[in-house]
Order: sequence, then structure tokens, then C-alpha cells
Amino acid sequence: MQQQFDILIIGGGMVGCSLACGLAQLNLRVAIIEASPWNNEEQPSFDDRSIALSYTSKKILQGLNIWEALQEKVTAIKKIHISEKNSYPHQWLSAKQEKVPALGYVVENRHFGSTLQAMIARYENITLFTPAKLFRLQQYPHQVTITITQLEQEYTLTGELLVASDGAVSRTVDILGLQRQIRSYGQYALITNVITEYPHNNIAYERFTDNGSVAFLPLRDNRCAVVWSIQEHQLAEIMALDDHAFLTTLQSQFSWRLGELKQLGKRQRYPLQCMSLNQLYQHRCVVMGNAAHTLHPIAGQGFNLGLRDVALFLETIKDEDNNININKLHKYEQQRLQDIQITLQWSDQLIRLFTHHNPLFKTLRTGGLLAMEIFPPIKHFIARHGMGYNGKISRLASGLAP
Ligand SMILES: Cc1cc2nc3c(=O)[nH]c(=O)nc-3n(C[C@H](O)[C@H](O)[C@H](O)COP(=O)(O)OP(=O)(O)OC[C@H]3O[C@@H](n4cnc5c(N)ncnc54)[C@H](O)[C@@H]3O)c2cc1C
Repeated sequence: MQQQFDILIIGGGMVGCSLACGLAQLNLRVAIIEASPWNNEEQPSFDDRSIALSYTSKKILQGLNIWEALQEKVTAIKKIHISEKNSYPHQWLSAKQEKVPALGYVVENRHFGSTLQAMIARYENITLFTPAKLFRLQQYPHQVTITITQLEQEYTLTGELLVASDGAVSRTVDILGLQRQIRSYGQYALITNVITEYPHNNIAYERFTDNGSVAFLPLRDNRCAVVWSIQEHQLAEIMALDDHAFLTTLQSQFSWRLGELKQLGKRQRYPLQCMSLNQLYQHRCVVMGNAAHTLHPIAGQGFNLGLRDVALFLETIKDEDNNININKLHKYEQQRLQDIQITLQWSDQLIRLFTHHNPLFKTLRTGGLLAMEIFPPIKHFIARHGMGYNGKISRLASGLAP
């Protein structure tokens, strides 16, 4: 038997679930097909990471009615401190200077995941298929038909549109035959949580080191989420260190700005790559989130970028008569590609600039940090970029309904 929906979403991670909440509010019938069991422990999108949400992401989440439930779980970033190891110049970005309550907010993925899942449970027009996988996809002039397998049963579902948000190794992208541009950075992101001697005072730290970068993001209960980018060849050695030796090594990379690093949480690692698509849709199938673009976490922009996909998509798909209209997908694609390219290039350039040992690059880095002080517009530009003001600003990011 075929089950009919308006929109089929493959991948119920952070992007797919945020999108589902927005579509449900537009009174559309939504199906989420998620490969992992629907509980926090085994859901890879809602793992031990913490993510920095930009200021515009907060606005989008407010518009999707997610923020209200999430806000008690987030920690505001009031200031960002940028520095380089073994180099004097450093910089501050501040919410006060940008005239906003916070530059961004940090949330643990597990908390974000449980908030999204609780919201989804309340929408009667969202149907979950989990653990389930896409098996076959066929596009017709007026609909998309998919076959999925769930607990060894096959189901056929149809929708007017399909959204692929099934992550960086998206099977849907493979089935659609879209070409990926992939470049490995030869680095891993190592994440953990630490407790520090001094309070973080809502400051996020970005420190560039000899071989990568280390970010400390403020969390509740005076903890910090650490994202440490290291070279591939260092990974085994660093992962093998006992907690004490690990903290000592991390301390030497980060500095003593927060006093002694004390307690350590679980360590996880992620290989880092840059991936993008030239094409964000094919007929009635649209690709978004990590399935469409994967970037280095150095600037903390991956999910923020995915949420901007969601926001613009929501204001694109319905026409004046409240029907789903695929004619505007081309414009959606052009506008999103612009933001994606700028954001990818930005994090790419940061890595190149800060991981080069050439003395010329060292001079450029020092000059760059000094220039931010001498020319405040540069600082303002960087802060605005981090806050998510890139390319076409969606209605949701401007605080309006989609
Ligand atoms: C160390 C680290 C730190 C980061 N920090 C930040 C940050 O500070 N700020 C920020 O904005 N971003 C950050 N990011 C990026 C952010 O985590 C990602 O952009 C985000 O997780 C993308 O969400 P997604 O839903 O698109 O994909 P995913 O999180 O990969 O979710 C994909 C979902 O699809 C499901 N799935 C996979 N295959 C199938 C299939 N065949 N069928 C059905 N379902 C399937 C998966 O189970 C999963 O639930 C960071 C990333 C890393 C690695």
C-alpha cells in the first residue's frame, strides 16, 4: 500500500528535524525516514558534540517555535577571544559592540536532539519511519515515489517533494547521481568537555596552534566544550594519552587563560573534510544540510548553514495559493549556493592562513589580527559573518514568519 505525504525527508538529524518542524507549521504532511533508532543514545546527529548557534540561527529557531523549548539549555556567547599560540596580538569580538544580546549560543547536541524529538512527537502531521533506510527513489512529473525498508518490511511512500538531509555520506545524493567536490584536510576534530579553574564568563575562545586550532565554547555548569583540530598523524598518539597527560597537552595548546584545566569528559573524533555540490536540487528532490555541504568546524558554521537552507526553503516552496510550487527551486538554489560558497571559502581560507608554517603567512596572521584593531569595520565584518549575515537573509532570520 502506498502512503501519501506532501514532503518526504530522508535523514532525521538536526537539519531534517528542524525542517520537519517548519513544514508541520505550514500544515504540510511530512514523513521522516531516519536510519538510526529514534532515541538519543544511538542517533549520530545528536551525539556528544556541542555546537555554536549563530545569532541568526537563534532567530530562525524562534520562528520555528523551537527556541522557546531550547533556550533554557543554551549558553550565551557574549564575547569571542581570538589568539594565536606563540604570538602576542589577539582580538576580541563582543556582543555589546555589535549591539546584540549575544554573538551566538552554545548547545549540547543531545539536548538539542531531545528538544527536536519532543516537538516532533507533538505534530500529528509528521510521521516517523525509524530505523528505516531509503532503498529506491523514482521521480515522476508530479511526485516522487520511494521504497524504504523498516525492520525488514518494505514500504512505498509518495510525496510532492523529497528533501535529502542524510548527512555527509548521503545515500540519496548517490542515488540522484549528484557530483560531490571533496577535499580532505588531513585533520581530525577531537572533542571533549572540560571544567576549568576560572569561570568562562560567557566567553568563547578560538586559538590557532602550530598544527590546527583549539576552540573552547562556554557551557552550563561552568564547563567548556572543546573542539581541537589536530593533524591526522597526531591522532593515535593524542587519543592514547591518559586523562592527565591529555589535559597537560591541551593546556599547552590552549594557554592558562581559564586557569588549570581540570576534569575531562569523553573524547570523540571526527575526520575533517570540505564537501560541496554544484547542484542543490534535481527535479523534485532537494539536498540540504551536511548532505549538501560539509565544512571544517573552525568557524562553527556547518549547522548554521544548514539551518539557513531550511529557512529559505520554507519561504520558497509554497505559492500564493498555498500550493507546493517547484518553480522557485532554481532561485532557491542560486541564493543558497552563494551563501554556501562564501561560508566554505571563509573557513577554508582561515585554515590555510593559520596552518601554514611559512614566515609570510605568520606575518599575514599577525597583520590580520592587528588590522582588526586598527580598522574596526574589519572586526564588525567578521562578527557579522559569524552571526550568520551572509547572502540572501531569509524572512525567518529577519525575525518574520516564513
Ligand atoms: C567536531 C564538530 C564540531 C561542530 N561544531 C559546529 C558548530 O559549532 N556550529 C555549527 O553550526 N556546526 C558545527 N558542526 C557541524 C554540524 O555538526 C553539522 O553541520 C550538522 O550535524 C549537520 O546536520 P545534518 O542533519 O545535516 O546531518 P547529520 O548530523 O549528519 O544527520 C544526518 C542524519 O541522517 C541519518 N541518515 C544517514 N544516512 C541515512 C539513510 N540512508 N537513510 C535515512 N537516514 C539516514 C543519520 O542517522 C542522521 O540522523 C560541527 C561538526 C563537527 C564534526
